[in-house]
Amino acid sequence: MKEKILEVKNLKKYFDMGKGTMLQAVNDVSFHVNKGETFGLVGESGCGKSTIGRTILGLYNKTAGDVIFDNENVHALSEKERFQFYRRMQMIFQDPYASLNPRSTVREVISEPMEVHGLYKNKKAQLERVYQLLEEVGLNRDHANRYPHEFSGGQRQRIGIARALALDPDFIIADEPISALDVSVQAQVVNLLKELQIEKGLTFLFIAHDLSMVKQFSDRIGVMYLGNMVELTESNQLYENPLHPYTQALLSAIPIPDPDIEEKRERIILEGELPSPTNPPSGCVFRTRCSMAMEVCSQVKPVWQEVEQEHFVACHLYDETINNKKSIKRNSETLTVH
Ligand code: SF4
Repeated sequence: MKEKILEVKNLKKYFDMGKGTMLQAVNDVSFHVNKGETFGLVGESGCGKSTIGRTILGLYNKTAGDVIFDNENVHALSEKERFQFYRRMQMIFQDPYASLNPRSTVREVISEPMEVHGLYKNKKAQLERVYQLLEEVGLNRDHANRYPHEFSGGQRQRIGIARALALDPDFIIADEPISALDVSVQAQVVNLLKELQIEKGLTFLFIAHDLSMVKQFSDRIGVMYLGNMVELTESNQLYENPLHPYTQALLSAIPIPDPDIEEKRERIILEGELPSPTNPPSGCVFRTRCSMAMEVCSQVKPVWQEVEQEHFVACHLYDETINNKKSIKRNSETLTVH
């Protein structure tokens, strides 16, 4: 039986841009993460996925909805409780260089959270823990007295991971942890995260715009578009049977290593720009770029529904109350609605 460790319920996060303009970064998003799994959150830049991560962690106040972590409502925690909560949930940031203080040595960077939380009275024991963490992330104790600028991007991200592990958390939000890295080191960092997950029983919320990398690492995946979750299912199911037109377009953009298949397959090109989250389209937010859009799509927001076991989608193509369909062909065939 899978145990839920995080529940995000109808979460909204709007930013007041002044002059009556609200930026709807996250709009009524719900999902859960099971203990020990990796939940991938994917979508184009500006779709709200990083805002969700920061709102879960309480770095942003929510506009509406709830974030429940291990049966506790995160946004209702007292300051003291929030402090304890951060021992259990930590974040790995996209840009390891920007997230590490350039004037601090690696030892200071990694030991800072331990000092803030008063984990070690004995400095020697704290230093031993720093050495241990460096080794766990594939660095060594000789690196402790160096500064972040002396390291490559991949090594800096390893330092960021060591810092995130310093409090021995059980949940990590990894916000685009490999996007700023060379392709050659991306797989190494993902492999490291996988090893640490097995070793320490960690749960990950893995945020990325690259669906191919998310697939490698995630058990389940949620696809975001313009502040809305549009599809959610198990990783293999999403790749074998994507239902939402946006997911299909994202998947069709991933190159296939076989040149014969790659040459023959059809790409779904997304036309037009991502609309502004300050003025999202009426009805379905994807309708301005959707080749399957119907009249109803501009008038009615599609409901979030489970159309197959553990496979959720928000699209009128699957809504029988609106769309009087008799059959929908799936598995990469063209969707046909009668
Ligand atoms: Fe396209 Fe309509 Fe489905 Fe939106 S609801 S994804 S516009 S078909």
